[in-house]
Amino acid sequence: MKKPKYKRILLKISGEAMKGKRDYGIDPEYVSYLAKEIESAHKTGAQIAIVVGGGNIFRGVAGSKHGMDRATADYMGMLATIFNAMALQDALERLGITTRLQTAIEMKQIAEPFARRKALRHLEKGRLLILGGGTGLPFITTDTTAAMRGLELGCAAIFKATKVDGVYDDDPAENPKAKKFTTLSLDHAFQNDKIKVMDKSAISLCRANKVHIIVFKLNEKGNFKKAVMGEKVGTTIC
Ligand code: UDP
Repeated sequence: MKKPKYKRILLKISGEAMKGKRDYGIDPEYVSYLAKEIESAHKTGAQIAIVVGGGNIFRGVAGSKHGMDRATADYMGMLATIFNAMALQDALERLGITTRLQTAIEMKQIAEPFARRKALRHLEKGRLLILGGGTGLPFITTDTTAAMRGLELGCAAIFKATKVDGVYDDDPAENPKAKKFTTLSLDHAFQNDKIKVMDKSAISLCRANKVHIIVFKLNEKGNFKKAVMGEKVGTTIC
């Protein structure tokens, strides 16, 4: 069997993806679809760690705009990511995949606390690793979490699942003439303010450590597996 191009990767799924066609919260049917997509990529033999966002439930910035203390609101956002992580774990385990959930905020009854060495061991054993609770620190996004965890777990690339099929030079929803990049340099992604695929701190971490970012549409069947195998999918930022 052909080997995956990337042996160990980090997949970042935004909270938005978890709500499927709903306006808010979690769509269990859509999460089942996501789980199947992840299963097919996992079957290639790639070691996969997943960081999930929480924007479908709560974002710290939104809370603070309405007068909440920002740090409190951010901790709530981190808890939202754990809701999503649990839903994803449930869907993956229903497919028979062995998973481990680690959280950056201790919740011993439902997850292991994040521990790098243990996380690495899970990946080496072929267990699907889900990381909830962001970094456990306020004022940070799950994109930055993905870059940080990707680096400390020695991942060859960060796979950023998005609604559009890659990075464009303008918003394709508003500008029909927007051009898609198939490849892009990390320098360009960092310097060009129009490119909003991940926040600056996440891109800066990847740029400083030469970790590729693959931006792709998860909502297209088979795409994630193709990207893991090294087929041209979406945009590669390298
Ligand atoms: N968050 C945080 N620290 C972290 C990661 C996340 O405070 O290390 C909070 C922050 O409030 C953020 C929320 O968790 O708004 C949900 O994460 P994010 O907005 O990144 O989710 P996504 O946009 O991917 O759905």
